[in-house]
Amino acid sequence: MQLTVLGYWGGYPTKNEGTSSYLLESDDFHLLIDAGSASLIALEKYIDPLELDALLLTHYHADHIADVGVLQYTRQLKRLNNNETRAQVLPIYGHQDDIDNFNRLTMDRISKGVAYSEEEELIIGPFKISFMKTLHPVPCYATRIVEKNTGKIMVFTADSGYLPQFIPFSQGADVLLADTNLFKGMENHRVHMTSIEVARIAKQAKVPKLILTHLPQESDLELLKAQAINESPETEIILAKKGLVVKL
Ligand code: ZN
Repeated sequence: MQLTVLGYWGGYPTKNEGTSSYLLESDDFHLLIDAGSASLIALEKYIDPLELDALLLTHYHADHIADVGVLQYTRQLKRLNNNETRAQVLPIYGHQDDIDNFNRLTMDRISKGVAYSEEEELIIGPFKISFMKTLHPVPCYATRIVEKNTGKIMVFTADSGYLPQFIPFSQGADVLLADTNLFKGMENHRVHMTSIEVARIAKQAKVPKLILTHLPQESDLELLKAQAINESPETEIILAKKGLVVKL
């Protein structure tokens, strides 16, 4: 499978780059994970948004769902290949802990909200996905995504403060994509994790590759990365950036 970073800033877009959004592809299946601000424009570089097969939302904070509405309008108004063919109804996977936001995922003939939960494994095309509730001011779920035909695994922490459960949840993963909004010294925050905490998860879960994302604006990202490397020198650690492609 292949991961492409479309947006990686935490909270708000800046400098022509957007907030959380990741395209995960396996064969011809295109799964979008979160649809932050500017993600639709970024997505167009790779595929026609009408070709998207599914959207998975970790939670309903604006920096993760800002482009959901315009994605629905795109699929409503634009026709495939100019031959008047409508796009398929887009399944949008979300949790039901916030029913108002969940209900907005359904738009008649355009998109359909589909619920996930911690209790059940979900199959989305070529992927098998399990969930873990995170520590965040609103309900939010980390995802463990297994590519069925290769067994390759990507874990995405979504937004979260540090939880020890991330270690078993990340065990066996090939890539850990982790909310690293904070610098060393801010540990045990209730909303996001630090460079040290995410590196510790990767080290203890023995994940070979760690991608730092949900990054803080106006700060020294090389320092953030250096702090993580210092905590877990054996792990390959990279900063998310727009257009970063990681093959698993
Ligand atoms: Zn959030």
